[in-house]
This record gives sequence, C-alpha cells and structure tokens, in this order.
Amino acid sequence: MKKVLLIATGGTIASGYTKEGLAPKIAAGDLLQYVEEYKSFCQVDILQPFNLDSTNIYARHWLQLAELIEEKYARYDGFVICHGTDTMAFTAAALSYLVQNSKKPVVITGSQKPINLPVTDARTNLLDSLRFASDARAHGVNIVFGGNAIAGTRAKKERSKSYNAFSSINYPNVAALCDGKIVFYIDDRDRVTGPAVFYHKLNEKVLLLKLMPGMDGSVLERLFPFYDAVVIEAFGVGGLPEYGRVPFYTEIRRWTEAGKIVMMATQVTHEGSDMEVYKVGRVIKENFHLMEAYDMTLEATVAKVMWALGQEEQENPGPCGRSERFRRLFYKTVNHDMLLYAQGSEEDGDLRQ
Ligand code: ASP
Repeated sequence: MKKVLLIATGGTIASGYTKEGLAPKIAAGDLLQYVEEYKSFCQVDILQPFNLDSTNIYARHWLQLAELIEEKYARYDGFVICHGTDTMAFTAAALSYLVQNSKKPVVITGSQKPINLPVTDARTNLLDSLRFASDARAHGVNIVFGGNAIAGTRAKKERSKSYNAFSSINYPNVAALCDGKIVFYIDDRDRVTGPAVFYHKLNEKVLLLKLMPGMDGSVLERLFPFYDAVVIEAFGVGGLPEYGRVPFYTEIRRWTEAGKIVMMATQVTHEGSDMEVYKVGRVIKENFHLMEAYDMTLEATVAKVMWALGQEEQENPGPCGRSERFRRLFYKTVNHDMLLYAQGSEEDGDLRQ
C-alpha cells in the first residue's frame, strides 16, 4: 500500500464559521474522517505546520513546505498539501522551483466550500488528491482540483466561487480525475531521471507591477530602493507607454544599469507575450536586452524570478555577468512552465522536465 503524507495548512477546506467570518479551524486529522475511502489504496500520515487563510501565506511558508517535503521525502511515496485557493497557484509555482526533478508526486489541493458542509467540493478534491499522490504515473508538483490535475507552474485561479476554480494556462491539463479513475493526458514520468533536487533560497524583493493607462514611470523611481526585480504586467503582447513626467524608458535604464531585473509579462491571461511585434515593445527590449515571460503565468513568473535570484546569489561569480547567470536560470524550462521561449529562441532552452 502507498504511503502518503498529508500536510494541512488551512484554507477554506479546513474552515468553519466564526463571528468574524470563515477561518481555518478543522485540524488535519479531522479532514481525513470525511474521506475514509482512501484506506483502500493508501496509508496516510498527517502534519500541520500552520493553519492559515492562504491570504497570509508567502515565501517563508513556501520554503517551510519545501523543507518539510525534503525532510520526509524518503519515507513517503507521495505528498498532499491542503491549502487555501486564493494563493494556491503561487505556492504551486514556488514549490515547482523549490522541489525539482521529483519522481514522487507533490499534490496541492483545497476547496471552495469547507469539508464539513453537506454539499461541498472538498471531499472529492481531497480524495482525488490522495488517489493522484498514490498513482505510479504521477510525479512532480501538481494542483488537483475540480476533477483536473494541473502542472504547478500552469495553474491560475480564474473563478472566485465555482467548483472549477482553476484552469491550466497555455498548457493542457496533466490528467482528468473522475469516479475514482485517472486519465493521464501527459505521462512523461520516464523523463525524470536522477535524484530530486531541493532548493532553499528565494529572494523576496520582487515587485509585480500592473500597468494601467496613464501610469507614470515615477512609480518605478519611488520603488527602486526596495526591490531587486520588477515583473511588469504590460498590455497585450507587451510594450511600455512613451508618455509621462518620468518616462518608463528612463526608469528601465536606471533599473537595468543598477543590475536589477526587469521582466516583461502580459496582463492578458492566455497566449503570452511577444515584445518583438510592436515598436512600443521591440525598442525597449532591444535597447535594454530585456527579458520576457512569454507563455508563463504571472504566478510562475514571480516565483521563478524569486528562485532564480536566490540561486544566482549563491553561485560564485563566473566569467559572465549577473544578468547572464540569471537569464540562464530563468530560461531553463521547469515543470512545463514555458514553451514559447524554448521553441522560438536561438538561445539554449532546456525542455528536460
Ligand atoms: N480565503 C481562502 C484561502 O485562500 C479561500 C479558499 O481557500 O478557497 O485560504
């Protein structure tokens, strides 16, 4: 029988009503009593490192979860993390970078309704997740939710209330789960060779800035001292406005000359960026050798910039500059996070995972 570690962190799935609104209260052990069918296919141990609404979860907790998985890795066949849905896509992306090349599945799940209500998605999601974590075909970090398994770097919460809250963006679902069966659309477990690799560092000084019409580049001037990187959610396939008291152009020069990372992304959910198309994008990209996130989700882009900055700081300075080392780390494909760059670039994309 497979051995699974259930790590409960809070979220709606474990919430109950309080005078101040829904808040996590159901203990990890009690979650299991609602899905006793798991006993026919796996044995489950439980851990509860914290019990939070995922609004309160950030990089510190992502590192804590990755460390927990590393510590217990040898003893279990799979891991299920119960988590709030609000920031689940960020946690799934961060864990995809912190726990790489894992033959064992790390499943993140939650629900839109608490598990103790008569009508809820929680029981199906938890049972599906335990089943997925016990399946020999599953590996790496995935979200299991609403009958789908989604690569941890491709998930986005697109609905705030419905049971099918998560979508896989710019990439197919990894599997579908229905009536106790799992149909894999992507079965690439043979591509995972060698041991799992765990990382222990993230640089949290990353800003996600959403452009809006009329925004002035002075916003970057003010934020300059506080961040090592900015991910700019531009319009459409990507570009920056030419107007403003302080034009963006001036600020991009200041940030890049100081060795900070400027990552261009798009605020459009589907199909990704392509800054080469319009003059408003191509000129800044060429002049500052800017990077762009292409088809990656914003959640994965933010988590990968934090991860790559964290690793890059640990590496010994080599013959190439800081931004070249960062570029190499960022453009390496991890857990299916990016397709367009690897397919379209003259530089060396790596599609191993
Ligand atoms: N606010 C909750 C959370 O993210 C929402 C949920 O779990 O669905 O923790």
